[in-house]
Amino acid sequence: MIKEADYYIRGVLAGDRLILARTITLIESGLTEHQELARNIIDKLLVHTGSAVRLGITGVPGAGKSTFIESFGTMLTELGLKVAVLAIDPSSSRSGGSILGDKTRMEKLAVNNMAFIRPSPSSGTLGGVAGKTRETMLVCEAAGFDVVIVETVGVGQSETTVASMVDFFMVLMIAGAGDELQGIKKGVLEVADAVVINKADGDNIHRAETAQKEYQAALHLLMPRSPNWTVPVLTCSSLEGFGIEKIWQTISEHRMILKDSGELVKKRKIQAQEWFNFLLDEGLRSWFRQSSMVTNELPRLKAEIDAEKTSPTAAAARLLSQLACK
Ligand code: GDP
Repeated sequence: MIKEADYYIRGVLAGDRLILARTITLIESGLTEHQELARNIIDKLLVHTGSAVRLGITGVPGAGKSTFIESFGTMLTELGLKVAVLAIDPSSSRSGGSILGDKTRMEKLAVNNMAFIRPSPSSGTLGGVAGKTRETMLVCEAAGFDVVIVETVGVGQSETTVASMVDFFMVLMIAGAGDELQGIKKGVLEVADAVVINKADGDNIHRAETAQKEYQAALHLLMPRSPNWTVPVLTCSSLEGFGIEKIWQTISEHRMILKDSGELVKKRKIQAQEWFNFLLDEGLRSWFRQSSMVTNELPRLKAEIDAEKTSPTAAAARLLSQLACK
């Protein structure tokens, strides 16, 4: 049974985990009534958000994301920080199987009372998934989490979507044989605030260092996104704990620099505006597709294009102009 907005707001602000989980379930719900309530709750919680470190992590399956987050998150909790982990798995909506769900992940962190782990919904469009993750992130901030980690599998376009909702975006890599740059799309490096080569241990140390140099060289060729930040390439071993502290130092340094220069506030404002634009575009698209005139006209115009009676350009212009006249 759903309760009044006040119940959720007070519970979240008190850091009540059960109510936090229920609030996230409302956010994820497809029911209009739940969505309205969730919007109301989030609007009221907004003033209590903004102080957490928003951290995005991506990497191909097997790169060591869950091992890293387990080790990194545990270290943060030992520093007295509360950590929320939101994991997006865009693969499951397509394949029916989940990359994140098929193994026990982050066992230690899962039972740590300073940590909160929540898989993000994996069905629906990326925009839908990202929207819910964004809102869940805000609710976690209002519940008092100091660091919110958004994890995504490095497939599809989820990485850039995640990069657009966090303060610091980290790409976790492994040193492979052969061409180091093949496994990763250039677009991902372009949005990275740090590249981390994981599994720098045992026989792999030398390869990890070689990969580090190669990525450093590759990053030099990219236009810097921030005048105040040079994207570092770090190495770590999530299994042995090597390099994990240095990564937190790097994130903290980045935060200080961006705060001092005013770039952090600016970055978040730009992200909010971009999100607003995205929602308008998505809203328009779905309104257009659902309009009865479009659903009536579409089959006829498609048939005309098929029969080469009209060009796609002319058909699209005709439909759009009819809507504009309405
Ligand atoms: P994910 O799919 O990116 O979440 O990767 P996992 O964290 O599940 O790790 C995949 C495999 O790599 C597991 O067998 C881990 O034990 C192993 N692994 C992860 N981090 C390290 C590391 O730092 N060193 C070594 N040697 N193995 C690691």
